[in-house]
Amino acid sequence: TKLISIEGLAKRYPNPGGGGTMTVFDDLWLGIEEGEFICVVGHSGCGKSTLLNILAGLETPSAGGIIVNGKEISGPSLDRAVIFQGHALMPWLSALGNIELAVKSRNPSWSSAQIRAHAMKYLELVNLGEAADRKPAQLSGGMKQRVGIARALSLEPDVLLMDEPFSALDALTRGGLQDEILAICDARKQTSFMITHDVDEALYLADKIVLMTNGPEACIAEIVENTLPR
Ligand code: ADP
Ligand code: ADP
Repeated sequence: TKLISIEGLAKRYPNPGGGGTMTVFDDLWLGIEEGEFICVVGHSGCGKSTLLNILAGLETPSAGGIIVNGKEISGPSLDRAVIFQGHALMPWLSALGNIELAVKSRNPSWSSAQIRAHAMKYLELVNLGEAADRKPAQLSGGMKQRVGIARALSLEPDVLLMDEPFSALDALTRGGLQDEILAICDARKQTSFMITHDVDEALYLADKIVLMTNGPEACIAEIVENTLPR
């Protein structure tokens, strides 16, 4: 049985020109096993972000549904943590404070000492222990993105969702972060679902690749095994 089961998923929007609807995708079926690292690649406008947003519970499908862990999703949940492109850190909180905020929302009954220790563990996991007290404005782009990664991982989610998490970073920083996320996700058998426009990145990171392409009526998706050695 799959951890994530996408069943007959469709998304339609009202036509921008007015009248009728525009179908992004129709009748999408995909299964994702626990521990798999999935990369989504494909034409721009094919509904990659739409699919991820539905998985995150931030958008609702027009038809069909998604089962995660045996339960149909019906909105956002801390079981499905999102790493945002723009990291979305609270500017008035330190790196540690940003993670503590997430940990507290996930574990409201924990003491502040427990919350701090748990948050610090994840900050150290992304090698930012030294920068715990710095505010986002005092961190580089790569460091901010690592705080975002630590925050998502600190929720210990069933699924980690990422929409082009590294695309705003320079090549060197991106390479380092790709290796870091790969090591962490492998070690924790973290089920991950990541959109990228970079096919090389997908081939480097993914166990399986979801290919989204334009079809005659709407976008179609197929899932293929990544046969390149990692
Ligand atoms: P991708 O991530 O693959 O580039 P998106 O999921 O962002 O694709 O968008 C898929 C299609 O749906 C595009 O044609 C886009 O213009 C359209 N779309 C996305 N969000 C909305 C929205 N809120 N309202 C209307 N159309 C939208
Ligand atoms: P991405 O690079 O993630 O695919 P997009 O530029 O396609 O980003 O979309 C950015 C945001 O704008 C998304 O939240 C998407 O839902 C929204 N969006 C995209 N196309 C449209 C549209 N035609 N009408 C309204 N919102 C849209």
